[in-house]
Amino acid sequence: MTEEERLAKNNQIREQSKQTREKRKSQVCRVYRVKIDISHLNEAQKLQLKMLFVEAKWLYNDALTFMKGHNINDYDTKAQTVNGLDKDRQAVTHELQYLSSQMKQSVIQGIKSSLKSLSTLKKTQNKVGSLHYKSEYVSINLKQHKVTYRFYDKQHIGIQGFSKPIKIRGTKQFWNIPNIEFANAKLLNLPDGYYLAVTTFQNKGGEQKKYKSEIGIDMGIKTTITTSDGRKYKVLVEESERIKRCQRLIARRKRGSSNRYKAVMLLRKAYKKLGSRKRDTANKIVNELLEHEKVYMQDENLKGWHKGLFGRTVQHSVLGHIKRKLMINERVIVLSVNKPTTKYCPVCGTLRKDIKLSDRVYECLCGYKEDRDIHAAWNMILLSKIDTYGTQGINAFGEDIRQLKPQDLSCCLAELGSPSLL
Ligand SMILES: [Zn+2]
Repeated sequence: MTEEERLAKNNQIREQSKQTREKRKSQVCRVYRVKIDISHLNEAQKLQLKMLFVEAKWLYNDALTFMKGHNINDYDTKAQTVNGLDKDRQAVTHELQYLSSQMKQSVIQGIKSSLKSLSTLKKTQNKVGSLHYKSEYVSINLKQHKVTYRFYDKQHIGIQGFSKPIKIRGTKQFWNIPNIEFANAKLLNLPDGYYLAVTTFQNKGGEQKKYKSEIGIDMGIKTTITTSDGRKYKVLVEESERIKRCQRLIARRKRGSSNRYKAVMLLRKAYKKLGSRKRDTANKIVNELLEHEKVYMQDENLKGWHKGLFGRTVQHSVLGHIKRKLMINERVIVLSVNKPTTKYCPVCGTLRKDIKLSDRVYECLCGYKEDRDIHAAWNMILLSKIDTYGTQGINAFGEDIRQLKPQDLSCCLAELGSPSLL
């Protein structure tokens, strides 16, 4: 290649990446996970898949050793062999047969970016960790669609170095999205199987969504989320029998034995399943809540709730998941903890200081009576409205809504769109 050709090529690359950056502005980035179906692979192919991760681990650890005394930028990614230790900590040479050169590069690239983020951290914190040798490598970056990996059709992908297509499941999440573009993908080795996490770019949706009316939610102290329109969601996911069985099994196995290792793997798989179940429960609830135009909630301390609340069966609350997901949405309004959502009477505006945790129904002298949780959820909306009316609680009609009589308040509530109090 002459100097002129080289410059022309560089220019072309620069121009292309500029165009891509421009295009990305009108797109959203989404990552989808599809499962690799290994039931149709033969033994050689299964081995190949497994060895990708083993070789990536060897390479990673070898590069870390190299870094003691050398600069990682000088590491030779073209080498066919790496040095390591075997089970008895004896030096061995491993041959890299399966890892493609792009995969090798991305393993090293991963180290470089970890180093970079560590050094950034160092600027703000005095104490940062360092990179450690890995006992397993679980994520291999496949840099380019149509190079390191490709979609053949809805059910098959190709991975660099594999002679045959590999069956996958789960593409219907994104297959029919128009103008979808595939960027990089990550090949994952998780306790319950191999996955491919594909990064995609798609056009920003132009269509306007129709939302339901506003809603307040009360995160109950034990097990439920209650909405201001009276729905209750259970937020506990019970730990499976399988987890308990695996834990007992591990306790009986000898340390360092392969049977113990197998049991640990089973336990991990069971926990992965539990995690999926928790995520699923949380997603369903969050999606349903976000069908409303605005969601009002209170920022309560979740940590304190877990102490001594659950009985013998270990149960996992997904309240934390739900809260985290809601907090990042722009249509969710979070009230401060100081707002008296349980004590405040929405009709006459008095504060009942004597309300106890055991009182399941809120009752006021003015005649207002409501289930405690629904009452609190409804107050989330009301109290934040009072906030928007100003600290004086003046409504859109110029009235102080805390001073209004029940009959007068109805018009004010109608403005708020209350279903239950009219
Ligand atoms: Zn009252």
